[in-house]
Amino acid sequence: MPYAVPAPAITTIPVDGQSAAFPVHRIYCVGRNYEDHAREMGETGRESPFFFLKPADAACHGAPENALELPYPSLTSNLHHEVELVVAIGIGGSNIAAIDAAHHIFGYAVGLDLTRRDLQNNMKKQGRPWSIAKAFDRSAPLGTITPKAQAGDITQASISLELNGVTRQSSTIDKMIWNIAETIEQLSIAWTLQPGDLIFTGTPSGVGPIVRGDAVRGHVSGLRDLEVHFR
Ligand code: MN
Repeated sequence: MPYAVPAPAITTIPVDGQSAAFPVHRIYCVGRNYEDHAREMGETGRESPFFFLKPADAACHGAPENALELPYPSLTSNLHHEVELVVAIGIGGSNIAAIDAAHHIFGYAVGLDLTRRDLQNNMKKQGRPWSIAKAFDRSAPLGTITPKAQAGDITQASISLELNGVTRQSSTIDKMIWNIAETIEQLSIAWTLQPGDLIFTGTPSGVGPIVRGDAVRGHVSGLRDLEVHFR
């Protein structure tokens, strides 16, 4: 059947060692999933995980050999970096038990949950949705996806972010409040996960502003680095 308007393109992310690309279905994000970041955002204790989404076409790719060049987004003067481990779902399902979660994972990537922090703070104050702060165009840059078998034991990986060569965020994946398997369990109760879903699993402390001209490098051990330049 013909479409009444041009059909949207599928956003794809390259896969390390494969010619086949990963087609993005949805982008789920976990809020406040490292204790030190939860504290810097003003929370204490272990909250239930909470989620927000970004549109699939917010995903953009940093090629392994070339930095991704991004325009500084509109409407903000306080764009924040949040480096995150991204889980790529290969097999969908609902009500997935944590013990079965690994079976549903295709691979992992380094991602940036770009945030218009000034707009987020305004929206929070007014009790309004965060979409304009979190779900804007090109708000989800990510690096090449590494299939899980090549990534080693991701639960023991380190995660860090350098801004213009200076380390701003540094932690380990085992510091997550809700680990990868628990996150998949909780998420799959609320939504039916599909192949092509991406899960941004939260950021450690040290989030901060990016300005025009900045170079950001995200790193998770075992995965390809993500490098983004803002112009
Ligand atoms: Mn985040």
